[in-house]
Amino acid sequence: MSRIAYVNGRYLPRASACVSVEDRGFQFADGVYEVCEVRAGRLVDERRHMARLERSLNELRMAQPMTLAALGVVLRETVWRNRVRDGIVYVQITRGAARRDFPFPVGAKSTLVVTARSNDAARLNQLAAEGIAVVTVPDIRWGRVDIKSVALLPNVLAKQHARDEGAREAWLVDEGGRITEGASSTAWIVASDGRLVTHPLGSDILPGITRSVVIEVIKTLGLAFEERAFTVEEAYAAREAFITSASQIVLPVVRIDGRPVGNGVPGLITTSLRRDYHRYAEIG
Ligand code: PMP
Repeated sequence: MSRIAYVNGRYLPRASACVSVEDRGFQFADGVYEVCEVRAGRLVDERRHMARLERSLNELRMAQPMTLAALGVVLRETVWRNRVRDGIVYVQITRGAARRDFPFPVGAKSTLVVTARSNDAARLNQLAAEGIAVVTVPDIRWGRVDIKSVALLPNVLAKQHARDEGAREAWLVDEGGRITEGASSTAWIVASDGRLVTHPLGSDILPGITRSVVIEVIKTLGLAFEERAFTVEEAYAAREAFITSASQIVLPVVRIDGRPVGNGVPGLITTSLRRDYHRYAEIG
């Protein structure tokens, strides 16, 4: 089946879908994006993803191309046209096409692209059962990574390093030796004292939507939880570790920089958070 992309008002076969060479997303990475999970054909946590998208746009003084309600219709239509039952829907908004000049262009219309694709469910279930390896790398990103911008070159380099080392994710480490987050996921540990720990919100991490739902699950279950930065050493000594993101939900980490986490298999807390996640998520 040919895949369909939504581009500025039209649903097009992906092979012929395109944006201008002068698009500021292409020229300057002057754009933002969102990724929302699709489950049984429905959007997961749409409201929170749309709120974060609106915030990213506002922080960058970028125009919203349509209302969030209208965007919700486009997301569903794109999911439907691509016959996605379980997968993701991707939205990108840029400051539009204009003569290449750094300041904001006057009168340019934002570009809106929406695509959707199915998951490799068997692969994800295998990763969840076996756990993944992560490697640590210096966090060399800019000072506003709370904005979900398409400027992802440091993340690309970190992921490629992970891939070269046989790992699935890179954990980014700040100058104080603390892990901020993954290259495309939130980083978590169950520390040696049994508490769940993840980095607090701020300008140095993306406010993960999956993170916010997992925190609700943790609170509902009454598990010990601390929002604080943790060091690489603490991660090495952790009982469990995992990552969260909309496209992978909760994935156990069983190896950090080649060292086994706990006894080297997915932990019980991690496994139960993955199992229970969709009972707490908003599915619409
Ligand atoms: N941090 C980064 C850097 C990410 O790219 C992502 C995934 N987009 C996340 C965290 C997780 O966010 P979410 O749970 O909203 O997918």
